[in-house]
Amino acid sequence: MLDLVLPPRAFDGGPALSSGLSSEAWSKVTFLDDPVCDGCGAAQPFDTGAVQHCPLCLARPRAFARARAACVYDEHSRDLILKLKHADRTDLSGLFARWLSRAAAPLLDEADAIAPVPMHPGRLLRRRYNQAAEIARPLAGLSGARYLPDALVRRRDTVSQGGKSAVGRRRNVAAAFVVPETRRHQVIGRKVVLVDDVLTTGATAEGCARALMAAGAARVTLAVVARVTEQHAHPI
Ligand SMILES: [Zn+2]
Repeated sequence: MLDLVLPPRAFDGGPALSSGLSSEAWSKVTFLDDPVCDGCGAAQPFDTGAVQHCPLCLARPRAFARARAACVYDEHSRDLILKLKHADRTDLSGLFARWLSRAAAPLLDEADAIAPVPMHPGRLLRRRYNQAAEIARPLAGLSGARYLPDALVRRRDTVSQGGKSAVGRRRNVAAAFVVPETRRHQVIGRKVVLVDDVLTTGATAEGCARALMAAGAARVTLAVVARVTEQHAHPI
């Protein structure tokens, strides 16, 4: 189990190299282990031995059936994710994929296909790569599920929605995602794991899940590297 989580080699306080990161950086990440909410991946206080759902998921079930996150989104995991996002550290994506192959194992075991949350084409041009796709591709390789890089399309750029309420975000992304007619055959009847780097309100992932279900997917679940908790509400 540790082989999946630890980098190939641990570097004592040294600079992060290739697919690894320093043991100091690694030791500060708060990994999410059972018990977690089956619906959103949030840490739960007690291990009941049964499938659990947190009060939020009980009150309002998500558009995705299940979710898992590898770690808590805090200042430490944020540093790593921002490195992948903005500093061309695409080597980190292999590490994140290994984290997810463990944290999202229950979802991957039942999955037929893996799809990244898509980036708006304009943003993709500026940034040159979609960090969700960089994580989803090696994860598909590790899990054996079919990789669907372009089953989902982002019609509107909804990333810059800081300051909006959860309801406002949901409205904003409601019609942002679609499965093009020509790609429906990739998702019809399939159990799809959606992959993203960070889960905040879940509005983006729910927009994607609704689009996949509308296109005929049998089931949509969500695997994210890090999830925001109430105690760690950092702006992205
Ligand atoms: Zn939950």
